Amino acid sequence: MDYKVVIDAGHGGTDSGAVGNGIIEKDLNLQISQLMYQRLQDLNVPVKLIRQTDETINPNDRVKRVLDAFGDSNDVIVVSNHINASGGDGAEVIYALRNNNNLANRVATEIERAGQNVRSVYQRRLPSDPSKDYYFMLRETGQTQPFIMEYGFLDSTKDDVQQLKNNYPQYVDAVVRALLEYMGRKTPAGTYTVKSGDSLWSIAKMFNTTVDTLKTLNNLPSNALQVGQVLRVSVIPSAPEESDIYVVKAGDTLWQIASKYNTTANELLRLNNLTTSSLSIGQQIKVPNTIIIGDDNSNENLIPPDETLYTVKTGDTLWNIASKYNISAEELMKYNDLSSSALSIGQILQIPKKTDEGTEGTAPSDSSYTNYTVKAGDNLWDVASRYNTTVDTLMRYNNLPTNLLSVGQVIRIPNASAITTPTTSEKRYVVKSGDSLYKIASNNNTTVDAITKRNNLKNNNLSIGQTLIIP
Ligand SMILES: [Zn+2]
Repeated sequence: MDYKVVIDAGHGGTDSGAVGNGIIEKDLNLQISQLMYQRLQDLNVPVKLIRQTDETINPNDRVKRVLDAFGDSNDVIVVSNHINASGGDGAEVIYALRNNNNLANRVATEIERAGQNVRSVYQRRLPSDPSKDYYFMLRETGQTQPFIMEYGFLDSTKDDVQQLKNNYPQYVDAVVRALLEYMGRKTPAGTYTVKSGDSLWSIAKMFNTTVDTLKTLNNLPSNALQVGQVLRVSVIPSAPEESDIYVVKAGDTLWQIASKYNTTANELLRLNNLTTSSLSIGQQIKVPNTIIIGDDNSNENLIPPDETLYTVKTGDTLWNIASKYNISAEELMKYNDLSSSALSIGQILQIPKKTDEGTEGTAPSDSSYTNYTVKAGDNLWDVASRYNTTVDTLMRYNNLPTNLLSVGQVIRIPNASAITTPTTSEKRYVVKSGDSLYKIASNNNTTVDAITKRNNLKNNNLSIGQTLIIP
């Protein structure tokens, strides 16, 4: 489908929408909408903005503008931007009765990734005719795929007010990201547009990440880039390393520096995201600052546990390296994305570790979670998105004090069944002060047991702000 996007800046003119705490809804809606319009234009998505000034538009005219923008068709996505009020905290996504929740759930997921809690994703029926949508923007907009985006509560007693004032650009990016994903286009997170002369290496360095992470994030089959290509880049900087800076002097080699700091050349390469061992005078490189003399294993936690790095030496061939590590040359080429078997001295190869364990069908002892070992370049967002969960869920599940990870750290991923997004018959509930599982269950006409099971809770303790799926 060739999707088009229509952006509706809610309210306007004499209809100011909600007002409070220094926020006037119609104005913030317009700011958000203009930014969203700009972003989508930059990405060459066909887009129209139906209110560009502070004008009064009655509902009929508003709907007419929506339908006139690209016609009445289900390849038209309508984003109606709003700010909520009257007690609550967090975002809401409301979608039309004629649509499934795919788009709305994507939007909710991205909004959560951008740091805003999502209160609920839902549909609402007209009391006088339950076959129809409650909101005119959803009810009167023909075959289009509209959703109302409530970014937060301007009268929240929690964090929404500051979040709306400070973070709305991130929320715009989140919605844009969800739209692009839904449309099947390359997704920008913090995005970066490839310029002439860029390589994956230079971009990885720029964003303090790794080529592997970029390739995973962007589903890249090779290292080839095209000028103008929009890459998704990690938004959370990788964990600060325990390191000092060493300035390269004339005559230095990586090996000398490594031995001076009681580490190995490979570790320095990894620590600095370097692709070759050649150094230039004045270059600043990170060196480990924790030196434990006499302990051979002291740096073990810097090496990803499931792979080894190998630096090509004079006389090496792909075959002798492969046989040394008991794998095939083909595997080695694939793993390193090599197009030929020619090697150059100093080149770093990643050696996949043979996993001999598990061949006997050993099942994990507790099937409610999976262990994941953090690799260099990982951040919690990557891991969460890889497992179709949220940063919040992982932090809570692992009792993490911060979202920073260290290489080698093992985190538990709750199994998918426990943390999927709610189905249409379910809803999200954000735990408030004074809530108990019993209270939530009885308010929602369900049982403590059902909630516990659905959310894979280990005990009855709740924390304020925690999101539960109510079956
Ligand atoms: Zn509104």
